[in-house]
Amino acid sequence: GRESCLVGLIGSGVGPSLSPALHQREADRHGLRYLYRTIDIDPLGLGPDGVGELVRAAARLGFDGLNITHPCKQTVIGHLDGLSEDAALLGAVNTVVFGEDGRAIGHNTDGSGFARSFARGLPDAPTGEIVLLGAGGAGAAVAHALLTVGADRLTLADTDPARAAGLAGTLATRFGATRVRTVPDGGLPAAVEVADGLVHATPTGMAAHPGLPLPAGLLRPGLWVAEVVYRPLVTPLLAAARAAGCRTLDGGGMAVFQAADAFRLFTGREPDAERMLTDLTDL
Ligand code: NAD
Repeated sequence: GRESCLVGLIGSGVGPSLSPALHQREADRHGLRYLYRTIDIDPLGLGPDGVGELVRAAARLGFDGLNITHPCKQTVIGHLDGLSEDAALLGAVNTVVFGEDGRAIGHNTDGSGFARSFARGLPDAPTGEIVLLGAGGAGAAVAHALLTVGADRLTLADTDPARAAGLAGTLATRFGATRVRTVPDGGLPAAVEVADGLVHATPTGMAAHPGLPLPAGLLRPGLWVAEVVYRPLVTPLLAAARAAGCRTLDGGGMAVFQAADAFRLFTGREPDAERMLTDLTDL
């Protein structure tokens, strides 16, 4: 591992992100000099494509790596020298590592982060039929993770049917057409009724997107509910699911495990994700 580490987070509205604290606290415990800076594209007057000039600048300034978030996870790809297998499959990058040779390699730790959180938080949850709400960036990472760890079948729902169909097509090519389908118009109640679990991967429940992503009446004991939103940690959906007797998983675990996986890529050191989970609840 390195003696010191300089990293950053590029995206829109990243100022309040918890990532700097999560990374720096873990680095402190490793006795590592570690600076994690947020680099917000909005005050810089940059759009999603502006990530390219920032990645080049960071490389020239000696950064060891970057996390990349909304709305740059796809646009950054054209500015990198290579991709990990996960990043290539997802067509999205949330972590960039600058090698000593100056090459910038893109990785994606969202899927691995969800998989580890799911295994830890809902260890024996049945994965025969899973409904996934939201087919954007987080939804794609979750879908790949669930099918990779052996979920039998995913049913995708998105208010933008083209997004659900697009992700379903990609997943069918990789995992087989029998393992993925989209919810037909008005078919969400029937899909949830036969499901073992529900994963929520839309922004609903965040301060800017209040409310529930589906009618609370569809929640019932026996259905597990996993949330991807982690601010707030207890979303209206999680509160409704707990009230309905569902086993639940909050989005904090995914946030921590994706950060832990990025920390390992940046530093070459093994993070203690359990300690990082404790940090998240303190922050
Ligand atoms: P995105 O914009 O790429 O995708 C969101 C998708 O949800 C869109 O396709 C949209 O059409 C769909 N949608 C919106 N409302 C819906 C509804 N009521 N029903 C069905 N579909 C609906 O966003 P994203 O990058 O995938 O992020 C989604 C959420 O996941 C955000 O809140 C983000 O903060 C969170 N996230 C969490 C982690 C983590 O580590 N826990 C990681 C990544 C993203």
